[in-house]
Amino acid sequence: MERLDTSLLDGFRFACRPTCGLCCFASPHVPLEERAALLAAVPDALGAASGDHVPARAGGGACRLLSLSRCTAHAARPAPCREFPVSVHLGPRAQATLVLSCPGLDLTALAPARPDRSPAGPVGLETELAAARATLDRLDPRAERRARRGWREALDALGVEDPLALAERREAAATPLNVSATALRDEGLPDEADGLENLPLFHDDRFGTVAIAGSGAEVDLLVLRESGGVDRRLATYPRLERRPALDPSASEILEGYRAHLLARDGVVGAAALRALEAGPPGLSAALGLEVDAVLGATLARAAWRQQLEGRSGGSLEAAAVLAGIRATDADFLDRPTVGLWL
Ligand code: SF4
Ligand code: SF4
Repeated sequence: MERLDTSLLDGFRFACRPTCGLCCFASPHVPLEERAALLAAVPDALGAASGDHVPARAGGGACRLLSLSRCTAHAARPAPCREFPVSVHLGPRAQATLVLSCPGLDLTALAPARPDRSPAGPVGLETELAAARATLDRLDPRAERRARRGWREALDALGVEDPLALAERREAAATPLNVSATALRDEGLPDEADGLENLPLFHDDRFGTVAIAGSGAEVDLLVLRESGGVDRRLATYPRLERRPALDPSASEILEGYRAHLLARDGVVGAAALRALEAGPPGLSAALGLEVDAVLGATLARAAWRQQLEGRSGGSLEAAAVLAGIRATDADFLDRPTVGLWL
């Protein structure tokens, strides 16, 4: 049996868009064994700090090795960059997931009934998956054992028998899709004062890398500079107060995204932490809350992105919901969970 479970990637197609650069608004971890090769390629890659990350520029800027949306150390870029948009969650198993914010991913796989969906897959992710498998092969087996033990202890504390918590996933999936008003307000959004580097980002073909900042009853969309700082303020929109109507194809995408979230071990891990902190009523309810928070943010960001396209009012179209997923998904992968992250 393959050590890395890749079933969540089935049906996805990937082709990087070289002028995008979104994933490089980051500070990637450099594994110890890759450090010498990176420094041989770019001697000051780690900057003055010489830590185990390539530092991002201050003020929400990109990684210091990005120049005009291109990596200046491409052949020696560290493992997280070689693997992106694949991300591996280590818990009850090593599960490969995708960062759906990446514009190079075709997200039609989220709507399984679509006739144009790739029947199997993934397609175009061979290099990234090979890099992820190589990282996993190098991993100390004790780290995997620790992750499994942490997961088991958390589920034991919640009284859950099944290490993959399948019954809880099914129960959460069976509840009607009814995104709460609290989640639609997307209140967890950081504001500019929290630091531009902490804001959720999306890529827009016209403007480049755009950050979403909470601002009281409103949100601001800000175009960020590769060198750091705000290049321009694009728009200010009110928070979403009511669930917008969805076109049928938009509903299908949202349901597909919910199913995809529930299949991610990382989401179950985050729900387990939520349930352990809050106490009863347990994992199923916490999973429901977890998914509600993600889908609320998705719909709010979908509405803002649809307005950015010049369409306000009316129902949300499938393209807007996909844009909302792209503006949300990276936030919810980058969270602490039971087990470890690679
Ligand atoms: S976010 Fe995706 S499409 Fe954009 S540069 Fe990174 S891998 Fe390529
Ligand atoms: S090392 Fe290269 S690929 Fe990785 S984040 Fe920096 S610029 Fe992007």
